[in-house]
Amino acid sequence: MLGTKVNGKLFTCPACGCHYLEEIMVCVTQSSFILEVEGEDVEYGDSEANGGVIDRIQCLKCGFLVVEESESPNPAYQELGFIAERWTQPEKEEN
Ligand SMILES: [Zn+2]
Repeated sequence: MLGTKVNGKLFTCPACGCHYLEEIMVCVTQSSFILEVEGEDVEYGDSEANGGVIDRIQCLKCGFLVVEESESPNPAYQELGFIAERWTQPEKEEN
């Protein structure tokens, strides 16, 4: 995969040129199982995240803010396609 597609077009961050969007969630409960304890050092195994709400959607590399949930009247994902499309470019054809 080359990046995040928005309505079929490639997202391109206007600040850094990165092509990936990431979703930031808050109020997540994470649980991890513990493999080993050695004094103060704890080694963890797999972890699992549950619950949470979307806080914002941003550029993966530089954090350029695309949608901020607190400033949005609708859930971020409802507006994401509309908002993020302004920062897309047609995907280059591969020869
Ligand atoms: Zn960026």
